[in-house]
Amino acid sequence: MSTDLKEFAEKASAELADATAAEALAWTAEHFGESWIVASNMQDAVLIDLAAQVKPDVDVLFLETGYHFPETIGTRDAVATVYPKLTIVNAQAEQSVADQEAEFGLLNQTAPDRCCFLRKVVPLRQTLSRYDAWVTGVRRVDAPTRATTPIVQWDDRNGLVKVNPIAPWSDDEFNAYIADHGILENPLVSEGYLSIGCAPCTAKPLPGQDARSGRWAGQGKTECGLHG
Ligand code: SF4
Repeated sequence: MSTDLKEFAEKASAELADATAAEALAWTAEHFGESWIVASNMQDAVLIDLAAQVKPDVDVLFLETGYHFPETIGTRDAVATVYPKLTIVNAQAEQSVADQEAEFGLLNQTAPDRCCFLRKVVPLRQTLSRYDAWVTGVRRVDAPTRATTPIVQWDDRNGLVKVNPIAPWSDDEFNAYIADHGILENPLVSEGYLSIGCAPCTAKPLPGQDARSGRWAGQGKTECGLHG
């Protein structure tokens, strides 16, 4: 991607440091036209709802790893019904889960970094190569690794602008938005899953620990390689 786009992102990062979510998304729609996509893990539709207000036919990226809970797939399909104008882009690995397991076994148990690379990092990179910006729901309170997330940044790994409109939101603000706007939520949230990823790698967080502590619990891994 061009040096110009990187410089543009770095300048915008300072200018939009205190932007609201609505301002950040309006800026994204204004500057990137059709060339931006909203990433969702289908834990809820907060970010999708916010983005659809500035672009009802926005593209939504879902990493269809093949290892999701049925409730997550159900949430994705419900999102498509509630927001009929948007396009859900299902990013998939080259190998099916069956072929991967036949060739490598259960990588999510033996080599989760490799599994995430094949089923998340590569499909994400391939999809993002078609856009100039992506929008994520990363929040600073998610985990210590995310405590300094800016609203706009340059994503060097994937070569495009990354916008995090709800980075400053507290859990209370986030939950209030869901309640006030009747936003779709993955039914697993009400069962205590506070950060939902692939089924084999997601557990409920222990009391007093951050929401992402249930991801790859006991494996010493905290991120998929998407936002690190
Ligand atoms: S979260 Fe688990 S199952 Fe999903 S891609 Fe990563 S290692 Fe594989």
